[in-house]
Amino acid sequence: MKALTYISHGHFELIEKPRPVIIDPKDAIVRVTLSSICSSDLHILHGSVPQARCGITVGHEMVGIVESVGSGVTRVSPGDRVAVNVETFCGECFFCRNGWVNNCTDANGGWALGCRIDGGQTEYVRVPFADNALSPIPDTVTDDQALFTGDILATGYWAVKISEISADDTVLIIGAGSTGLCTLECLRLKKPRCIIVCEKDARRREFVKSHYPDVTVTAPDECLDTVMQLSEHGGADRVIEVAGTDETFSLAWQSARPNAIVTIVALYDHPQILPLPSMYGKNLTFKTGGVDGCDCDTILQLIANGDIDTTHLITHRYPLDKIQEAYTLFESKADGVIKIAIDSSSSCD
Ligand SMILES: [Zn+2]
Ligand SMILES: [Zn+2]
Repeated sequence: MKALTYISHGHFELIEKPRPVIIDPKDAIVRVTLSSICSSDLHILHGSVPQARCGITVGHEMVGIVESVGSGVTRVSPGDRVAVNVETFCGECFFCRNGWVNNCTDANGGWALGCRIDGGQTEYVRVPFADNALSPIPDTVTDDQALFTGDILATGYWAVKISEISADDTVLIIGAGSTGLCTLECLRLKKPRCIIVCEKDARRREFVKSHYPDVTVTAPDECLDTVMQLSEHGGADRVIEVAGTDETFSLAWQSARPNAIVTIVALYDHPQILPLPSMYGKNLTFKTGGVDGCDCDTILQLIANGDIDTTHLITHRYPLDKIQEAYTLFESKADGVIKIAIDSSSSCD
């Protein structure tokens, strides 16, 4: 089968690999139908994910059909259509029992797929802890609708959950890339009194305005003024920072009112500075990434109910054979690209 492989720093290549096999009773083999490219894949490509291993198949956003299961798998069976969670987790360790599955202590726990073990930009993938890491897709939900469940939607859902949103809140989301937009989809379910989205790219600001007319959209240089005008207590009650630059990190705490919660979802390329003397007395609570992806069944149900829809984020499609062209487009941010669906089914025999 063909598998997009992390060869070395700056170099992914679509190479032939043998199909994966079950190696643990809790494994499942999934035939990938659709996968997607995430900015975390670019972080691996550029060497800013130190735990990523050379030689692995990349890709951690995918849906597919269960091909086979180990003897210890009870929740899914061959033929089931499933969303794959970015995080595989044991469900039994201290962290899993508390719902902090990102910190699962098992060797295959947390973000392993497409980072430490073979992932999904291929035709078949072995998924450890299949009962926890695979969510059956309801019959009424298409693969396109389910594609982002296990990664960016899980992230948006988690970010909103830990931000403790109430109906009186003014909430600022910084960054309207795909994760910011998934966060927005999940935030709208909480019906806060005011939602502001800050985005530097004019084309993306237009995208938000056209798809979410009830949301206030602002550019970074106007963000503080906009937030002050639309908030009742001198800043946003909740700030969710998804953009991941030095400027947006500063903007996040500057936009927050005293005693606000600032949730940092972004993955930064380098360390950020908390200027504690300037912040003194603001009494902020910071919550930091990454996702505890254990709400995928709930997310799929919200999609089935029509409460969440991310299909408009799929702006481009490529077959697996042309995935490297898709990477070039995704990284260039050209042509209004937000997310790319990679079709593996055309490559399967
Ligand atoms: Zn991702
Ligand atoms: Zn665990």
